[in-house]
Amino acid sequence: MLNRATFHTSVARLHDLPFSRAEIAFAGRSNAGKSSALNLLTRIKRLAFTSKTPGRTQLINFFELAPDIFLVDLPGYGYARVPPEVKAQWEGLLSRYLQEREALAGMVLIMDARHPLTPLDRRMLDWFTPTGKPVHILLSKADKLSNSERVLTLRRVKKELESLDGVSVQLFSSLSRLGADAAADVIEGWLQAGPDRGRVEGVGTEVAESPQ
Ligand code: GDP
Repeated sequence: MLNRATFHTSVARLHDLPFSRAEIAFAGRSNAGKSSALNLLTRIKRLAFTSKTPGRTQLINFFELAPDIFLVDLPGYGYARVPPEVKAQWEGLLSRYLQEREALAGMVLIMDARHPLTPLDRRMLDWFTPTGKPVHILLSKADKLSNSERVLTLRRVKKELESLDGVSVQLFSSLSRLGADAAADVIEGWLQAGPDRGRVEGVGTEVAESPQ
């Protein structure tokens, strides 16, 4: 399913979100490697760079995988010098999207493996984990770490998040393709489960029949 993505729309206000049956959001600090990860996972070169064209960086960009099923590229956060009003607008848009969007089945959170779990990454987790929907963290640019650093980083991040239900973590590299198959499996699994059935708590996890 992932290799069928095509650009669908960009929105600046929650009011304009398209009708959706299920969607997976990609989030991350600016420069963490989100566009590269989206490009690798969809196998479409330059797909997510659409989101980097001037004027689109603060927008929510939708890529359609199948009718009314989307990958959603959220605006990158953590720019060094952002005016307070832009920051406030970003926070309002992102927090409400993450907390209220019913079609959202899960969030893929991309963090540079060399600087994982920044305060803004934690804020994203704080906003989203109360929904009970799953989060999958890609520790990106893992090719820049030695083998032993990778093991230690993965262990440390897992330990720091162990109190959170529904959060999984893996190493990832768009350059070497490390972890690409594993990440694609997680995303496709969420899409097959649909927005409700991926929930960590509640009836969602009990439903066994396949989605319509
Ligand atoms: P975004 O701002 O999160 O969308 O990040 P980009 O995907 O544009 O990547 C930011 C920079 O990191 C670019 O120079 C990429 O070439 C580089 N980059 C992204 N992924 C990787 C990776 O897996 N390994 C390495 N070594 N560099 C990467």
